Amino acid sequence: MTDPLHSPARQPGDPDAALRPRRLAEFVGQEAAKGNLAVFIAAARARGEAMDHTLFFGPPGLGKTTLAQIIAGELGVGFRATSGPVIAKAGDLAALLTNLEPHDVLFIDEIHRLSPVVEEVLYPAMEDRALDLIIGEGPSARSVRIDLPPFTLIGATTRQGLLTTPLRDRFGIPVRLNFYSHDELERVVTRAAGLLGLAIQPDGAHEIARRSRGTPRVAGRLLRRVRDFADVAGAASVTRHVADEALTRLEIDRLGLDAMDRRYLTMIATTYKGGPVGIETLAAGLAEPRDTVEEVVEPYLIQLGLIARTARGRVLNDGGWAHLELTPPRESPP
Ligand code: ADP
Repeated sequence: MTDPLHSPARQPGDPDAALRPRRLAEFVGQEAAKGNLAVFIAAARARGEAMDHTLFFGPPGLGKTTLAQIIAGELGVGFRATSGPVIAKAGDLAALLTNLEPHDVLFIDEIHRLSPVVEEVLYPAMEDRALDLIIGEGPSARSVRIDLPPFTLIGATTRQGLLTTPLRDRFGIPVRLNFYSHDELERVVTRAAGLLGLAIQPDGAHEIARRSRGTPRVAGRLLRRVRDFADVAGAASVTRHVADEALTRLEIDRLGLDAMDRRYLTMIATTYKGGPVGIETLAAGLAEPRDTVEEVVEPYLIQLGLIARTARGRVLNDGGWAHLELTPPRESPP
């Protein structure tokens, strides 16, 4: 299993909920996306209409669910949340849609994992606000069309490429979320410390920020663990020294990489001499599901330039070798 402390993936029970910003103004970073969303929200409000369907894509823990909730809050409408794998049958989706109040936001996380039959129901719902249901079976079966209230579908996916084209095309507002800068994460950490009633120095917040894999969810989680260490050590406030000591004990290195990241890099370096190596081979070697490796582990390593995805497989870049403090094997002469 990926170590849950450093993994940007969501955990059961959602311990992040308490730290979620409620308004757009409290949401740190993603300035371009926020600016555009503010316009679309204001326009929908002024016209008294449902906002257009919106798709958020980007690695886990960057704020897709948070933004969906914020949009509903800013629009002053209800928020219903579900996820792709949970909607097993077309009837499940029909039940959700027919229970919406006008202008509500329906949030579907992991929307790339909807089954094809469910997707077929979603198309007319998104486009014509209608449900086409088949009633009965065999020769007496007939199709009935049910009108739906105007609503906003907000989809979230870590893998935009896995969305079918017809589904992707039905979102009027596609929004990509990017990894956060250290300064932005420092603001996330400072804000979260305030909510937790924890005294923190700017250099302490910065240390946690730069070791958070560019991800607010990881920042929140590391802050909570650093707080544990600070409390037990009787530290009056979190300084850089306190944060560094706690994070080092948690085996998070100076780039924010954890044991899993280092196993991944080391495997390419030593077992496969720097690559290229196929994703299936790597996932099997790490005993991790391929999805986890592709969605959780790799994006940040690629962002840092430590590895690259090529047509022939994953390769370790110079930065990856340097981070492991290893020398690449010499190319055999042509
Ligand atoms: P995703 O849906 O993309 O996996 P979430 O919306 O669940 O991510 O966010 C994970 C955690 O990170 C939440 O606790 C949320 O409060 C926090 N968070 C995410 N983005 C921001 C942000 N821009 N500012 C402050 N906190 C954030």
